[in-house]
Amino acid sequence: MIGITSYGAYIPRLRLNRMAIFQAMGWFAPAIIMVAQGERSMCNHDEDTLTMAVAAVRDCLAGRDKKTVDGAYLCSTTLPFADRQNAGILKTALNLQDAIITADITSSLRAGTTGLLTALEVVQGKSRKNILVAAADKRETRPAYFYEMWFGDGAAALLVGNKDVIAEFKGAYSVSYDFVDHYRGKGASYDYMWEERWLREEGYSKFIPEAVGGLFKKIGITMDDVQKVVFPCLFQAEHRAIAKKLGAAPEKVIDTMHEICGETGAAHPLLMFVAALEQAKPGDGILLAGFGQGCDALYFKVTDAIAKLPARSGVKGSLENKKTIDNYMKFLKFRNLIQPEMGIRGEAPTQTAMTALWRKRKMLTGLVGGKCRDCGTPQYPKMDICVNPKCGHVDTQEDYEFADVPARIKTFTGDLLAVSVDPPSIYGMVQFEGGGRFMADFTDCELADCKVGFPVKMAFRRRFTDDERGFSGYFWKAVPQPGAAALPEVRFDGRVAIVTGAGAGLGRTYALELAKRGVKVVVNDLGGARDGAGKGSRTPADRVVKEIRASGGEAIANYDNVATPEGGEKIVQAAIRAFGGVDILINNAGILRDKSFLKMEPENWDAVLTVHLNGSYNVTRPAFAVMKEKGFGRIVMTTSASGLYGNFGQTNYSSAKMGLVGFMNTLKLEGAKYNIKINTIAPVAASRLTEDVMPPDMFQRMQPDFIAGIVLYLCSENCSETGAIFNAAAGFYSRAAILTGPGTILGGGEKIPTPEEIRDQWAKIDSIEGAREIGDANTAIMSFLTPPAPKAEPAGESGGGAPDVKGIFAKMPEAFDAAAAAGKDVVFQFSISGPGGGDWFVAVKDATCKVGAGKAEKPTTTIKMADGDFLQLIAGKLDGMQAYTSGKLKVEGDIMKSQLIAKLFKFKS
Ligand code: NAD
Repeated sequence: MIGITSYGAYIPRLRLNRMAIFQAMGWFAPAIIMVAQGERSMCNHDEDTLTMAVAAVRDCLAGRDKKTVDGAYLCSTTLPFADRQNAGILKTALNLQDAIITADITSSLRAGTTGLLTALEVVQGKSRKNILVAAADKRETRPAYFYEMWFGDGAAALLVGNKDVIAEFKGAYSVSYDFVDHYRGKGASYDYMWEERWLREEGYSKFIPEAVGGLFKKIGITMDDVQKVVFPCLFQAEHRAIAKKLGAAPEKVIDTMHEICGETGAAHPLLMFVAALEQAKPGDGILLAGFGQGCDALYFKVTDAIAKLPARSGVKGSLENKKTIDNYMKFLKFRNLIQPEMGIRGEAPTQTAMTALWRKRKMLTGLVGGKCRDCGTPQYPKMDICVNPKCGHVDTQEDYEFADVPARIKTFTGDLLAVSVDPPSIYGMVQFEGGGRFMADFTDCELADCKVGFPVKMAFRRRFTDDERGFSGYFWKAVPQPGAAALPEVRFDGRVAIVTGAGAGLGRTYALELAKRGVKVVVNDLGGARDGAGKGSRTPADRVVKEIRASGGEAIANYDNVATPEGGEKIVQAAIRAFGGVDILINNAGILRDKSFLKMEPENWDAVLTVHLNGSYNVTRPAFAVMKEKGFGRIVMTTSASGLYGNFGQTNYSSAKMGLVGFMNTLKLEGAKYNIKINTIAPVAASRLTEDVMPPDMFQRMQPDFIAGIVLYLCSENCSETGAIFNAAAGFYSRAAILTGPGTILGGGEKIPTPEEIRDQWAKIDSIEGAREIGDANTAIMSFLTPPAPKAEPAGESGGGAPDVKGIFAKMPEAFDAAAAAGKDVVFQFSISGPGGGDWFVAVKDATCKVGAGKAEKPTTTIKMADGDFLQLIAGKLDGMQAYTSGKLKVEGDIMKSQLIAKLFKFKS
């Protein structure tokens, strides 16, 4: 079977309100009021036939393998080049294979249907398998003309082939006549039109019925075999009359889109055909006729495969994506029909070096960059050396196409001074998902459509025209998609997860939900009793695996015990054997053995700690090794409100659960540089662990599904959270954290305080007002050792007046406490940025202090700050710890020695 295997369409976003033409030119041509209804599509200033054709083909190739395309025809009467194959530019822009045939089919409005018919016959003749047919037109007319109202700009694309055919080609019939209702002479910009009545009566209403009649006879069908009738006709009344003459009931006739788009020349029969395919059901017969110096008539039968076609924009999507304008002058300027002064800046040389265009054709026309074979980093442009500083390998770049990679706005500007046909000129940095970025012009947008982080799609557009040499230069621009500004969906492409204790309760839900999103899951469960007693059973894990497979997911069962190191190792090995690795680990397996403290015998204590705490260690350790190797990992630990807040009768369980929080706090630091994120969930949900502790109605509400969403998010690659604890219960979600109060220093940090002094300062010690989270133990200890800075202004004026940095260093020797410096040997280097900054060093040795401007040779500790912040710090208005954690104070070298500064120097108030 041969026929259409895919389709696509492109109608420019801009629509001109036809009334705007009348409003501007009605004084001159009052008769155009008769046709001034509705709107016509119009190209943006950077669009032409070729850019529209590329857009339609990209739509058509959605979900198709480009490598199978072995021919491309471009059909149009308005090709940008008369002698430079336009289909060749299309092929380069789309990065189609080099070994294909390309051709321009032109000089008639029938070019679209003729191109399609030719492709069908070539595939039928078996010399080629998949031919792309793109048709596009952007026709010009003189201003204030009926045809200016009637015409529109647009493109359609069809893929012709012999596999996965959605509309089978059944036959065609053509008639050819040198019928000159209009013509465009050599070098002319506009068509010369003959009388409309003659075109209607001698042209449309004779050739279309003749070709259709010939086709019906040739393949032995009647109008009863046709459910969709497609033929363009400029005149609405004539269109209806011809349909009637053909015997086609009005509901079979596809709308000409006159009111909403206008007639798009050689593209129009194919554009209407795409609209017909969008509405068609399997079994429908479609009649397609293209008029122009004769007529081509083709018949197709729609197949079941049409239902499987991936989503695309098509005619429907193109029509929905619109911006109507009422500014006729804009229409004229965008089409270069008026030439306002562009200023001297507009005179920049535009000559293209054909040698460079040839050498860099993939990069410039095809938006092809590079991707490092060794580290996988994409970059644009492609270079000899990988941009990844950790890689830097030479000659490892493979071609990498950026045109279809999702991207977002990183920076942008609206420039009113740059030369632009449509100011402000909007451009900025575009960041591609997975890596790679470049500065791009933005198009099809207003400044208000741009926001950092918004998604953009790349579009092939005209970058400049070299009018002197008749050359159009093309490149790729970014089109902001404010409507699609939502973040991408939570993704797990190709990931492998281990969920321990996944045979029931929460673990089962996690496994099912992960599998639904394409994760390959190792469903681990020992299948023991609630208190961990018994030999275990394979049934719980097997049941969950069966459920996953029944709904099309991938999973294997594993029955190993997390409580032993061998068990943990075996679980991870199972993932490696079945799926090649592990990316996600949810430590969820758990048991309960509740007893009040005095009844908590060692075996109950041990059993619970062994499953929860040791169990998480046993599985995480081998999994962490795989993740580290891969440079990716997501781990979720399971804690509990019992551990975080306490619960009567659960000393064993609370200890184990809080132990897991400590485990996470350290592992988050060890995993950080390998992109291993680790978080902890504190769920509340109905399961066998809670069935006898929750009242029945509460038990009913607490579905484990409420917990799955947050756990899956924590496992996803989009999630950058690490080292955090989250409560989750029946739709409630919150973060729990360990906070540290501001505290106080007693006895200047030197004199040991008595219990009485502690008691007297209890309010300050006990207060958590202004408490904060601390990222790691070192930071915590530093914050404890940094005494609150003196409140008074320091004496730091270099010459009287306000204190300055230089003055502070001048006063350092005075502020030096020689007694505190006994036995200390340290050199501090200060690097103070800002207008009042500079470099100073302070060397402390043998209880003496030497201060000097410039850089020390081997500083022990280097302190970097902005001048303002430094003055604030010395004045006691900025807390040292706060400055450090907020990044205002950077310490290099021996961090611990920086704490000496406060002890060694005391600025007097
Ligand atoms: P559950 O009993 O339904 O599920 C736990 C699963 O772990 C069971 O299928 C069990 O067979 C399995 N398991 C037990 N020991 C194992 C071992 N040694 N090796 C392998 N598998 C083992 O309970 P659930 O409520 O779904 O609990 C899941 C996790 O959530 C547990 O860690 C639990 O402590 C924690 N948690 C649950 C709640 C809640 O409200 N349900 C609250 C806080 C914490």
